[in-house]
Amino acid sequence: MSDLNQNTLTQIANLIKTKKISSLEVTKFFIENIEKAKKLNSFITTCFEKSLKDAKNFDKKKNYKGLLPGIPLAVKDLFCTKNIKTTAGSKILENFIPAYESSVTNNLWSEGAIILGKLNCDEFAMGSSNETSYFGNTINPIGKSLVPGGSSGGSASALAANLTPATIGTDTGGSIRQPASFTGTVGLKPTYGLCSRWGIVAFASSLDQAGPMTKNVEDCALLLEAMSGYDPKDSTSINKKKEQYSKNLKENVKGLKIGIPKEYRIDNMPKEIDNIWNKGIDILKKSGATIVNISLPHTNYALPTYYIVAPAEASSNLARYDGVKYGYRSKKGKNLIEMYENTRGEGFGREVKRRVLIGTYVLSSGYYDAYYLKAQKVRKLIKNDFDESFKKVDAILTPSTPSSAFKFGEKTNDPISMYLNDIFTVPVNLAGIPAISIPGGVDSRGYPMGLQLIAKALDEQTILNIALTMEKAINFKNSINRWWEN
Ligand code: GLN
Repeated sequence: MSDLNQNTLTQIANLIKTKKISSLEVTKFFIENIEKAKKLNSFITTCFEKSLKDAKNFDKKKNYKGLLPGIPLAVKDLFCTKNIKTTAGSKILENFIPAYESSVTNNLWSEGAIILGKLNCDEFAMGSSNETSYFGNTINPIGKSLVPGGSSGGSASALAANLTPATIGTDTGGSIRQPASFTGTVGLKPTYGLCSRWGIVAFASSLDQAGPMTKNVEDCALLLEAMSGYDPKDSTSINKKKEQYSKNLKENVKGLKIGIPKEYRIDNMPKEIDNIWNKGIDILKKSGATIVNISLPHTNYALPTYYIVAPAEASSNLARYDGVKYGYRSKKGKNLIEMYENTRGEGFGREVKRRVLIGTYVLSSGYYDAYYLKAQKVRKLIKNDFDESFKKVDAILTPSTPSSAFKFGEKTNDPISMYLNDIFTVPVNLAGIPAISIPGGVDSRGYPMGLQLIAKALDEQTILNIALTMEKAINFKNSINRWWEN
C-alpha cells in the first residue's frame, strides 16, 4: 500500500482525481493508521464499514467534479451526523443518534468526502485541553504526557498523527486555533456566519463557528471552500456568493499593512513566544509588508467578557437536556423535578455544571445588568477596537496562545489558569471576525507554538494569502515519531 503519511489533503485529492490511487485504497490506509493509534484516544466513534462502502461507491463514479473526491475524513463529535452516534463528549448524549446531518458535514459529503468517524472533544466544547471529555483524555502526538489542546483536541490529535488527512472543528473561544497551535497544525476560525451552525451541538450560539483544521494553508483554503456557504436553515448564516479560496490562494504580502497590538505583549509571557512573534514580524517585513504598531485597548476585558457571555448562552442552550426528549435519563427520583435534577446531575460533568451555574447566575434578576448586560456593552467596545484598527491595517499578527502544550493535570484544578489559555483567541470570537493559526516554530523542548493572523469580517482570503507566504518562510516541520504505534 502507498505511504500517504507525507501527503497533504490537496495532494491526495489530486491523486484520486487523476486515478493514481482509489478512494478505497486511501480509506484503507487511514483506517489502518487509526487502528494502530488507539493509545491516542482521538476517536469516540469509528464507522469503518460505512467508510469502505462509501469509498467503493465513490470509485464507481466517472468524471467527479467535487472538491473532496473520495477523501476519507473524521470530524469533531459536535457535528450531528445522521444515523451515526454524536456525543459532544458528554455522558448526557452517550447514546444519541441524530436523525439529521449538520449542514457543514453535509457540505463535505456533497463535495465527495467520506466519513471515517467522530473525534473526541471537551464536553460540549467547554475546555482547553480535552480533559473534560466523558470519553477520556486525548493525547497529543507530540508527546505522551501532553494535552492536545481543546476543545477540538481529538481533531488536532488525529490530524497531527495522520489518522485523517484533514478535519473540522468548532471555535467558540479558540477551540480550533489553540489545539492547532499545540499540535503544529493549521486551524482557521471563519467569520461568524460563514459556516452554518445548523446541526452543530450548541455551546454559545453568538460565538460558535465551525472551521477547517489541516496540515498546511493550501489544504485550509480547500476545506474552508468545501464547508462554507449560505444556509437558510441557520438564521445567522451570511447570504453571499461562495468564495473560491483555493483558486484565489496566492502569496501576497507586498504592500500590506500588518498591525502588531501592544496589548498582546502580556506579563510573564514566555520569552520563546515573544521570539517566535518577532520572527513572524521579520518575515512579513522581508516580504514587503509595513509593520504598524496598533492598540486594541479593551483586550484586557475580553477574557472576563467571554466567560460571562459564553456561560450565559450555554446555560440557556443546555436547558434542553432534561432527560425527556432525548439523551440520558436518570432512573432515580420520585417525581418529574427529581428526574430532571438527577438526569442533569449525573449526565453533565464538572466543567459543564460550572458553566451552567455561572451562566444562570449572570442572567438572574438583580445580576443581569451588572454582568450580562455590561459584558454585552464591553463586547461592542472590543469589536470597535478591531473596526478602528482595520481602518489602518489589512491584518493583525499575534501569538495564538500564551504557552505551548502543557501536561495532563497541570491546570485541571485551577479553572482560571485553564481559561487564561484563551487570552489571545477570545477577542476574535467576540468580534465575529476570522483568524488563522499557523505553526510559528518550536520552544526549547521542541513543542510547537502558533502564530495568529486576524482579518476583518469576510476577509479570510487575505489571511490565507499572508499565511501561505509565512508558511513558506517558516518552513515548519513537525518532528513526530509515531511512538503510539509500538
Ligand atoms: N477554551 C474555551 C472554553 O472553554 C473555548 C472553547 C471553544 O472554543 N469551544 O470556553
